Amino acid sequence: MLPPSVYERLGLARVREKVLAGERLNLEEGLRLLDCPDLLAVGALAHHVRTRLHGPTTYYVVNQHINYSNVCVNGCRFCAFARERGRPGAFELSVEEILQKVRERLHDPITEIHIVGGCHPDLRLETFERLLREIRRIRPGVRLKAFTAVEIDHFARLEGISTRAVLQRLQAAGLDMLPGGGAEVFSPRIRRLLCPDKLSGDGWLRVVREAHELGIKTNATMLFGHKETLEERLEHLDALRRLQDETDGFVCFIPLPFQPHNTKVEDARGTTGVEELRTIAVSRLMLDNIPHIKAYWVMLTVKLAQVALHFGADDLDGTVVEEKIGHMAGAESEQALTRTELERLIREAGFEPVERDCFFEKVQKVQGEMLKAKGQR
Ligand code: SF4
Repeated sequence: MLPPSVYERLGLARVREKVLAGERLNLEEGLRLLDCPDLLAVGALAHHVRTRLHGPTTYYVVNQHINYSNVCVNGCRFCAFARERGRPGAFELSVEEILQKVRERLHDPITEIHIVGGCHPDLRLETFERLLREIRRIRPGVRLKAFTAVEIDHFARLEGISTRAVLQRLQAAGLDMLPGGGAEVFSPRIRRLLCPDKLSGDGWLRVVREAHELGIKTNATMLFGHKETLEERLEHLDALRRLQDETDGFVCFIPLPFQPHNTKVEDARGTTGVEELRTIAVSRLMLDNIPHIKAYWVMLTVKLAQVALHFGADDLDGTVVEEKIGHMAGAESEQALTRTELERLIREAGFEPVERDCFFEKVQKVQGEMLKAKGQR
């Protein structure tokens, strides 16, 4: 922590006191932090909280990302991933092709498979139920983290059933968790501007609340650095904090810097490293009830993600292997990291690497459960 005089000079003395006392910051205080020119002063506060929560631990996961299709009916302006069906670059994997990707990595000690795609016009819920069941059969014990709230809502519309019923069916087929994408920024103004056809912010919160009520944990994201104001960023964090007070269903928050390449967002400035670090730090400080903050190296770049561990983040995500969503928008990071590389990045930053599963359970325990699960089958 920097000396008190630094915070007095910045008009943040009371904020510092509240952080040290573990008191909740209000929106006006969050705004002053997001607007603060002294990045290191904000980062030191976030690092204090991160250290209080997690000590020297930094988490990572050995995971596999699978995008089943980028065909999508929504056409969000900030999205470089989606395509209309039949257009160049559109792809759609069959269940068998996805299962083949899972089989190709059976030799890897993967604990989590992360599956998302666009809102496909006619892939039915039954296909995804079959997919989850088959992956469970091939790879028992692996955690299945799949489908954003936006996809869940889309499946419900296609089937003519409620989102709660969709969640129940997917849960019965083996779904463990929702990854938390599609939140973007909840502001109705931003959604009208950038993604008018997508599930609203209130809709996203409703679906996620239903998931939590069913015992399905989720992550939460925020896409920042496009057209939103700092106030809208803070309101997004506040909405997540209020829902978490009620449900305690969020595991990790993932701030995602907007990648402007190949998108339809005019005058997109893109984010700077300072803005990314400050937003991660303020997220740690505002989200006092969400245990983990992720530095998602795919979007941040590996080097900035490593630095972000000193700005409030306690998780580096994982090995990933094949990532399409960020890279089609110009993300400059690698496509995959090994466990050794992740551990080296964490150690060099001064932290102790701990492998986790999607619930942030240490992997030792997960492997025990995996063995148990295999024995039961
Ligand atoms: S962000 Fe998601 S919902 Fe929007 S166009 Fe891209 S894939 Fe579709």
